[in-house]
Amino acid sequence: MRYSALSILMNGLRGNRSWKPAWREPEPKAHYDVIIVGGGGHGLATAYYLAREFGITNVAVLEKGYLGSGNVGRNTTIIRSNYLLPGNNPFYELSLKLWEGLEQDFNFNAMVSQRGVLNLCHSDGQRDAFIRRGNAMRLHGVDAEFLDREAIRRMLPFLGFDNARFPIMGGLLQRRGGTVRHDAVAWGFARGADMRGVDIIQNCEVTGIRQEGGRVTGVETSRGFIACNKLALAAAGNSSRVAAMAGMKLPIESHVLQAFVSEGLKPYIDCVVTFGVGHFYISQSDKGGLVFGGDIDGYNSYAQRGNLAMVEHVIEAGKTMIPGLSRVRVLRSWGGIMDMSMDGSPIIDRTHIDNLYLNAGWCYGGFKATPASGFCFAHLLARGAPQETAAAFRLDRFARGYLIDEDGSGAQPNLH
Ligand SMILES: Cc1cc2nc3c(=O)[nH]c(=O)nc-3n(C[C@H](O)[C@H](O)[C@H](O)COP(=O)(O)OP(=O)(O)OC[C@H]3O[C@@H](n4cnc5c(N)ncnc54)[C@H](O)[C@@H]3O)c2cc1C
Repeated sequence: MRYSALSILMNGLRGNRSWKPAWREPEPKAHYDVIIVGGGGHGLATAYYLAREFGITNVAVLEKGYLGSGNVGRNTTIIRSNYLLPGNNPFYELSLKLWEGLEQDFNFNAMVSQRGVLNLCHSDGQRDAFIRRGNAMRLHGVDAEFLDREAIRRMLPFLGFDNARFPIMGGLLQRRGGTVRHDAVAWGFARGADMRGVDIIQNCEVTGIRQEGGRVTGVETSRGFIACNKLALAAAGNSSRVAAMAGMKLPIESHVLQAFVSEGLKPYIDCVVTFGVGHFYISQSDKGGLVFGGDIDGYNSYAQRGNLAMVEHVIEAGKTMIPGLSRVRVLRSWGGIMDMSMDGSPIIDRTHIDNLYLNAGWCYGGFKATPASGFCFAHLLARGAPQETAAAFRLDRFARGYLIDEDGSGAQPNLH
């Protein structure tokens, strides 16, 4: 069923009894043209664009838990396209453009809110680096503005301006950046894919990848063997584990990243703002909770929970940036597993196995990439060649030395 103001009105008048489930719960078929492993944002977006853009609908998305149980429902919801490097910049801008039309496209309210993303800078060198980044963005047709200290004080007067240990010198603002309700993204793509005939199969864990003659023939799952012509991996934090089932060792480490939500407060932060000394980013949800996060925990793990030392570290950075936070109570926190690649940039590529495709390495910035990742991965699966804006995200770049090190921290996945 299509959602509209009229459908809300009619259902309201009828006691809300005629809403239908947003997607079916199908039994797995014996064979699919494409199987996607992972019902997170990227897997579901891939299925959606395969059906919508390329007419490929004999597709299954296999999810070991429930939709939204992975990072797509655990992130701090920030979207932006403020990238410096040529490999990244056009891709993330494509993603932001797709976000801008997404809700009309998949007929679902994902609460896309372009409230602006402001990165604060605290030294001359950082200011120069931000101005350089802003110029690179503008040369690529992406919006960017540099704000001086007084403009920031007018915009966010509660930041630590007075006697601050790290004085605010300015900030790079992307007004088109913002937030999106994360789990609604999974639900919207799932519903859009399901409407076009894709089978979304929850509680179906892939436990093995069967190969014959150098090709994948299908997957072993907790619900039996399912055959396929093409296999697409989109398992985010579990990418290395799933790829190992096909005998592959990925240039990826898995790390925990935590997020936090405070008690509900009156509206006071109307954009996303990030600290330039420690790693700290914060926005306020429509319910009033402050949503914030910081660095990854710094050790390899597949556990979806973090450690207390990082809680202290994140909150220290937050209080340095916004002194008034010391009066706020944290309501809850949680962790997600990040697929940290060696250069901090993602992989959307074929593998050495002819019909096995890989989408991974999203680190802690993959939510904003969800629409473009799905679109480009679907293009690769349908056409056999990379979509032009994702052409740099090749798996062999680590062997060839063509790294996309946006952060400049080298081959240190824990530092990107
Ligand atoms: C705390 C936190 C904050 C973040 N903040 C941001 C942010 O503000 N902005 C941003 O851009 N990015 C952010 N990220 C990163 C972003 O959430 C991820 O990069 C992105 O969601 C990963 O893609 P996904 O949605 O497909 O992952 P997931 O939702 O994790 O999807 C992968 C799915 O694969 C499934 N799976 C794994 N193994 C198997 C198997 N064997 N069989 C079947 N299914 C399997 C998992 O259950 C999971 O549902 C954040 C992440 C975290 C954890």
